[in-house]
Amino acid sequence: MDTILRFIWRSILTFLFLLFAPAILLIVPLLVVHYLPGDDAIGLLKVLICVFGPFACTFWFLLSCEFPKFYAAARDGGHVTTGVGFHLKAIGEMVFGFVVSAASSLYVGAPRFNVASTESDSLWFIEMYFAVFSPIFLLPGWRMLKRICAGRQACRWCREAVGAVNLDKVGLCSPCHDAALEEKETDEEQEMWIHKVKFELHDKAWASDLRRGRREALKWKRRVLSLH
Ligand SMILES: [Zn+2]
Repeated sequence: MDTILRFIWRSILTFLFLLFAPAILLIVPLLVVHYLPGDDAIGLLKVLICVFGPFACTFWFLLSCEFPKFYAAARDGGHVTTGVGFHLKAIGEMVFGFVVSAASSLYVGAPRFNVASTESDSLWFIEMYFAVFSPIFLLPGWRMLKRICAGRQACRWCREAVGAVNLDKVGLCSPCHDAALEEKETDEEQEMWIHKVKFELHDKAWASDLRRGRREALKWKRRVLSLH
């Protein structure tokens, strides 16, 4: 019984450490350097940050990679499919996070490992912090790059990725291009249908969706026509 309790207790402590690591790994060393300059504890902290830093980074890197997916699923009322591919990707992300974090912290931290002056040690811990969490700082750049690459081949209206050759001059796929051209500035039939949806079927959300669709289509129609 005792061993089980100890195991649970240790798991909780590890989890709490990982959760608060981004704050602990920055604040604790800087406080120690400030109040105990030149103390032996600084050397110990340097070793600890090298050993535990990459684990904390891996934990947060995985969270940062996977959180947007779960957030989007929760918002849209769906769920994330967790098949073999999902687990393999998560393992790949963990390995990447750990290796990059460990390598960059060794590269940045190793040359000035011994305890030095207060300024030098503070700088060491700040540089180390960025090195340890570098995979997470790289993430926004990587996402932006991915979005730019995907944006070049996706339809600007329906967001379907159809390849750059299948887009027209304003960036629409052919079904969207045709739909935009077919939309009429004044469309009695459509207006009557929207009116019916709103006042007879009492579905305001649907009616405003239809109206937004019409506005959007006319906007794209004007853009397509202006290039002809
Ligand atoms: Zn489209």
